[in-house]
Amino acid sequence: MKIRIAIDGPSGSGKSTLAKSLAKTLGLVYVDTGALYRTVGLYAKRNGVPLNEASKVTRLLPEAQISICYTEAGQRVILCGEDVSDLIRTPEMSMYASAVSAVPAVRSFLLEIQKRMAAEGNVIMDGRDIGTVIMPDADVKLFVEASPRARARRRHAELMEKGDTSSFEEVLEDIIKRDANDKNRAVAPAIPADDAIFVDNSDMSLEETHDHALNIIRAKLNRSLC
Ligand code: C5P
Repeated sequence: MKIRIAIDGPSGSGKSTLAKSLAKTLGLVYVDTGALYRTVGLYAKRNGVPLNEASKVTRLLPEAQISICYTEAGQRVILCGEDVSDLIRTPEMSMYASAVSAVPAVRSFLLEIQKRMAAEGNVIMDGRDIGTVIMPDADVKLFVEASPRARARRRHAELMEKGDTSSFEEVLEDIIKRDANDKNRAVAPAIPADDAIFVDNSDMSLEETHDHALNIIRAKLNRSLC
């Protein structure tokens, strides 16, 4: 039996860290779909598309060659032959990703690659519309949440570790802005699937979140095997 697990949730909820550790425990391939939107954001910026006119990226999409590969360092994203996996991890690219992700042509452009990974099975995918659009028939759907302040604290610590000088307030403001963009867009808004199970990890450590999610997944998979 091929397992498919969908993990959705807002920025900084820890869903990527959770998805990565669950993938390891369960022996699944981890697909970070946010990296794809970040890569389109980088492509838009490199081609002179202003952040507030993101839809202008539409006519550039036919030239954008984006693929995913896996190395010992995990998932890497390749843009027109260049590994951009590290370049897309900046606050600016977070905002670009959020802006381009509201453009319908970008969502359909990235649909095929995500559907292909989903069809291969034995995957755990994280994003904003995995349980609703990419894998509506996933075996388990989790929606991971935490309060905006808890999420901003984590994101800020991560950025500081990388030498980024953004303040806590700036990170919190970006998170609130991205939440609003992602929830209110017309296409594939970032909302939980009807059958998603909520995991609020505001007061949980990484290990506690992992163990809690694993219990949910095991219970759900055992039930569907019976
Ligand atoms: O998950 P991450 O923070 O890397 O995602 C960056 C942005 O990409 C999100 O703020 C969201 O706007 C967009 N995204 C999306 N659908 C997904 C994954 C990410 O719209 N499945």
